[in-house]
Amino acid sequence: MKVGIVGTGMVGSATAYALGLRGVASEIVLVDLDPALAEAHALDIAHAMPFASATSIVHGDYDRLRDAGVVVIAAGVAQRPGETRTDLLGRNAAVFRTVVGEIIRFCPNAILLVASNPVDIMTQIAAIYSGLPTQRVIGSGTILDTARFRSLLGAHLRVSPRSIHAYVLGEHGDSQVLAWSGARAGTVPIALFGARVGAPITDAVRADIDSKTRNAAYTIIKGKGSTYYGIGAGLARIVGAIRQDEQAVLSVSSVTAVVAGVQDVALSIPRVVGREGITTELLPDLDAQERTALQRSASLLRGLFESVTV
Ligand code: ADP
Repeated sequence: MKVGIVGTGMVGSATAYALGLRGVASEIVLVDLDPALAEAHALDIAHAMPFASATSIVHGDYDRLRDAGVVVIAAGVAQRPGETRTDLLGRNAAVFRTVVGEIIRFCPNAILLVASNPVDIMTQIAAIYSGLPTQRVIGSGTILDTARFRSLLGAHLRVSPRSIHAYVLGEHGDSQVLAWSGARAGTVPIALFGARVGAPITDAVRADIDSKTRNAAYTIIKGKGSTYYGIGAGLARIVGAIRQDEQAVLSVSSVTAVVAGVQDVALSIPRVVGREGITTELLPDLDAQERTALQRSASLLRGLFESVTV
C-alpha cells in the first residue's frame, strides 16, 4: 500500500521512519511546503531501508499521492508569540483547507490520518473539508496517551504494556480522561492484580501515573522542544491496522454523533480500525467520575471547534 505524508517536519518524518522500519508500506511519498525538507527526509530515511524493509521512500508534489491508501496529515504552523489558541487554530484551519483539498483532488478514496494539533479539532476540520464519511477521517487522538498509561501501569505491575488493557479517552490534551475503572492486566482488574502481586494501586501510585501520563508531553518539550518518536510509532501502528484490515481496537479520534451527551464532537474512544477505517466504537463502562470528566472534555472540545470559522 502506498502511504502519503503531508507535512514532513518532526512528526511527519518520524512517522515515515517508523513506517519504514515496520515495513508497513510499499511506498511512502513525502510532501511538504518546503520541498527541500521533504527531499532531505526522503533521502535520509531511504538510506535506512537497506537495514529494515523494501519500502521505497520518495518525495514530490500532491499528484504523487495518487492511489495512496492512507494519507497522514502532519502539516501545520507553529504558535507565534502572544498568539491565542483560537488564532492559531484559524491559521491551521487555513493550512488544512489547502492540504485536504489537494489530497482529495488526487486520492478521493484515501483514508485520512490526522496528526496535526490540536488533533481533535483538526480531525473535525479535515472531515468537513474532505467531505469523506467520518469513519475514513481518523485522528491520532489519545493513541499515545493510552500507550503511556499502559507503560506506566505495566511497569508498576511488572506486566508487559501489551497485556495491559486500559484506555485514555476524550481530548488529546489537558482534559483527557484516564479510564481507571475498567483497566485490566490480562482479564484481572488492576486493583485486584496489584494487591495480589504486592504492587498495590494506592492513591499515591494512581496520582503519580495520572500525572506522568497527562504531563509527559510537557516534560519532553521542556527537554527537546517537541515530541515525535512516540507519535510517529503510534501513527505507524494505525496505518498497520488499516493495511492489514486488522479490526484492531485503538483509541483514536473521530467525529462522534453523541458522546457523554455532547453532539457532533471529535474525540478519542476505543474504536475498531481496519481497511475501511473505523467500523465500530467501543465506549467502555465508566464510573460516575469518569463519565463527568468525559462530558467535560467533550463539551470543551465542542466549544473550541465552534470558536473556529471553518
Ligand atoms: P511538528 O513538530 O508538529 O512536526 P513542524 O513545524 O516540525 O511541526 O512540521 C510542520 C510541517 O508542516 C513543516 O515542515 C511545514 O513546512 C509543513 N507545512 C506547513 N504548512 C504546510 C502546507 N500548507 N502544506 C504542506 N506542508 C506544510
